[in-house]
Amino acid sequence: MEKYKIGLVPGPVSVPEDIRAAWNFDFASSDLEDEFFNLYHENQILIQKILHTKNDILITSGEAMSILWASLKCTLKPGEKILAVSSGLFGEGFAEMARTIGAEAEICSFDYDLIPETQKIYEHAKKFRPKIITAVHCETPSGTLTLNLKEIGKIAHEIGALFVVDFVSSAGGASLDVDDAEIDIGLWGSQKVLSLTPSLSISTISKLAWDVIEKINYSGYEAFKDWRGVEDKKFMPYTHDWHSMKALNISLKKIIGEGIENAILRHEKAAQLCRDLGRETGLKLFPKDEKFSSPTVTAFYVPEKFSWKEFNSSLREKGLAVGGNYGKLAGKVFRIGHMGSQADFERVEKGMSIIKSILI
Ligand SMILES: *Cc1c(COP(=O)(O)O)cnc(C)c1O
Repeated sequence: MEKYKIGLVPGPVSVPEDIRAAWNFDFASSDLEDEFFNLYHENQILIQKILHTKNDILITSGEAMSILWASLKCTLKPGEKILAVSSGLFGEGFAEMARTIGAEAEICSFDYDLIPETQKIYEHAKKFRPKIITAVHCETPSGTLTLNLKEIGKIAHEIGALFVVDFVSSAGGASLDVDDAEIDIGLWGSQKVLSLTPSLSISTISKLAWDVIEKINYSGYEAFKDWRGVEDKKFMPYTHDWHSMKALNISLKKIIGEGIENAILRHEKAAQLCRDLGRETGLKLFPKDEKFSSPTVTAFYVPEKFSWKEFNSSLREKGLAVGGNYGKLAGKVFRIGHMGSQADFERVEKGMSIIKSILI
């Protein structure tokens, strides 16, 4: 389908009309104009507010995978140690990426239908003594939300490690306080709660992280160091995407206008509605405990009487698009993305009624 009638895919989400308006402008060159740097700086300040942080904000071109890679390439040398806290695919992904750059990675592993548990992480970290600890706030493929970021951050700093967190699919839609959780490098994408195209990535960088980044001195397309203070230097490593920067400004102002807490509440209510309607329809929630469910995405088991392929094509015939899955969850678990523009009660109701019409 080129266009979904009812899009409930957990990213990229539906880009609303007021955000699409950013592409109606014929912007000048972002390299040359003060207006661009002012817009960039305004977005940095709005992001600090939404994420509750005083840390530096970098806004770079490219999908969020680019900064997941950057967070490792800019902080690790071959042979150095990283502990990936994992209750899902993205958690494990950090370890896999780190190994490709020659780091020694261990995984503190939890089942995909659970969330990480503090004591086990503490014991693993004390024994392994990594330079970096990574965690994932919302494991999008499992529809779970890690609830103990603050405790993991404390552990990281107790053992002298940097704390790197992927909050690509949670920030703006789930409660998150970057400074309170002591996050040194935080990673956010544009195509989830922010409801942009997959075009920008946002990183939060603490002083501690900058010290490591400057020491490692990684050079390359994803290098964070080249983005330090670009708003003052008025010089960027590459030509930026003015249209997306404008779209980001619209999106951030929408969140601030709604109220950060209200936006989170809207996500929580949309998620609750999705779970309640799913339960009525006989769907089984994937997370073992409803408390582990993310406010931005709900994961259900594929109903037993269907294969995923059959189920998905029946939904698509009726105009509903949801997310399938990857790895060991492929074919077994599907996902409903109610983040950003899709955290909309009417959309969730319509989508769930189509699922109901197929199952009952
Ligand atoms: C979407 C997402 C990313 C970015 O990955 P893509 O596959 O490039 O979209 C990273 N981490 C999490 C948790 C995500 O949900």
